[in-house]
Amino acid sequence: MNSFASVNQESCIACGACNSAAPDIFDLDYNGIAGVIYEGDKNRGITAIEPELLEELQEAFVSCPTHCIQLAAVPFA
Ligand code: SF4
Repeated sequence: MNSFASVNQESCIACGACNSAAPDIFDLDYNGIAGVIYEGDKNRGITAIEPELLEELQEAFVSCPTHCIQLAAVPFA
């Protein structure tokens, strides 16, 4: 199960769709660029997202127009 997430911020166009779909997982910085904020992850992709939020995570993943949300079953680092 893919419960780790990180945004490839170089490809983020600051549309906000991920934050709308999963506000507990994604937030936008002062430039509008998204990152994973879940449990202080700081977009490192090392914090397992709780099962109750995985549906939202999937919604955010499919809503991203540039496919810059990366998901994995294991931590990114
Ligand atoms: S949906 Fe994708 S492009 Fe839009 S803000 Fe989120 S990560 Fe960036």
